[in-house]
Amino acid sequence: MKAEIVSVGTELLLGQIVDTNAATLGKALADLGIVVHRRVTVGDNHERLLAALHESIANADVVFTIGGLGPTQDDITRDVLAEAMGVPLRFDEAIGRRLRSFFGSRGLELLESQLRQAYVPTSGRALDNPNGTAPGLLFETEGKIAIALPGPPGEFGPILENEVVPYLRSRSGGRTIRSRVVRICSMGEAVVEDRVKDLMASDNPTVAPYAKTGEVHLRVTAQADSVEAAEALIEPVVREIEARLGSHVYAYDDEPLEGAVVRMLREARLTLATGESCTGGLLAKRITDVPGSSDVFLGGVIAYSNQAKVNLLGVAAEMIKAHGAVSREVAEALAVGARLRFRSDIGVGITGVAGPGGGTPEKPVGVVWQAIATADRVEAEGNVYAGIRADIRTKATQTALTKLRDLVAQQV
Ligand code: ATP
Ligand code: MG
Repeated sequence: MKAEIVSVGTELLLGQIVDTNAATLGKALADLGIVVHRRVTVGDNHERLLAALHESIANADVVFTIGGLGPTQDDITRDVLAEAMGVPLRFDEAIGRRLRSFFGSRGLELLESQLRQAYVPTSGRALDNPNGTAPGLLFETEGKIAIALPGPPGEFGPILENEVVPYLRSRSGGRTIRSRVVRICSMGEAVVEDRVKDLMASDNPTVAPYAKTGEVHLRVTAQADSVEAAEALIEPVVREIEARLGSHVYAYDDEPLEGAVVRMLREARLTLATGESCTGGLLAKRITDVPGSSDVFLGGVIAYSNQAKVNLLGVAAEMIKAHGAVSREVAEALAVGARLRFRSDIGVGITGVAGPGGGTPEKPVGVVWQAIATADRVEAEGNVYAGIRADIRTKATQTALTKLRDLVAQQV
């Protein structure tokens, strides 16, 4: 089943609101195995909406509209979709009564325009909206389906979940879609793709790569008549990916890198402390985002100034003078200092230039040193990251977590 999504609203085009509903819908459709071929955004304009709908209805088996089902002048989706589908609307007495009693019980005047919300397709039905006045609408004609959903997310989400998903599932003939995400670190997207290229040619299960900051995810998705049958299709492909990528596979599905690191530290009975400069505690934040991280994480110091590096983590002032605060030597000293001050098994140090200012020809914006200290050694890695301040900081913590993971993996 091919789908297209038409989001309706001048507010969306002006950037006043972000189309979170389309993102929610995209995810729900992916879980159902329905392929979204295109997403379009149109303002509250009859002609342009009609043109967009004609095109989407011609292209897809099922077309979704988002927004514009309310009572006001700019809410035109119901009428325009009926026109595009060639399905007239009829007044639904039950919905009309509900609207009258809704307004009556609140002592509000029921305007004629409010009753527009009681019109439903003559071929199709209303989709119950317990959280608002405008129901969703389902249009069904020869081989074409259109589904109109209201804009407010608190109305959109429940209708999608309670009405649309069960309807689409029943239409897809009871086939099930399952997927498994294989999470990969310290290997670039292009290399990952190169190693699994032949697997990506299969269409059941499909294998699709997603590049994230400092990691790559491979989603393996299968369609079958039962959950067990879908899992049986996925399993050998996941095994094959593991065989090809080895220890670069760090976790599955929703477990983030920090989650895997905490889990591995716990299994290895190792404790951790951090000494961060340019990341300002982001590494400690990511680690403590993981429930139960107190088993392994003892604490961290944000040693932002040189003085803090010296006073709190014992970095030698002469070392900073000789090499600069952003250097291999200082990163190693931060890692060693954090380890000693917190009496942990492992210490991590990060220092760099997150930008946008502060770069020099020798140390440009994006230079970051990440170091890891254990009882018997300390190791550092320097990188020059591209991107804005937030990207540079995220990438630095990603590298530190990857190095930690590799270290713990070697120890067990
Ligand atoms: P109403 O009855 O509230 O008018 P509606 O179905 O007519 O509902 P719109 O008028 O298009 O929907 O939008 C109403 C509100 O819903 C917007 O102001 C916005 O807050 C939210 N909204 C609309 N579309 C989206 C969207 N695509 N993603 C997220 N929120 C949205
Ligand atoms: Mg509206």
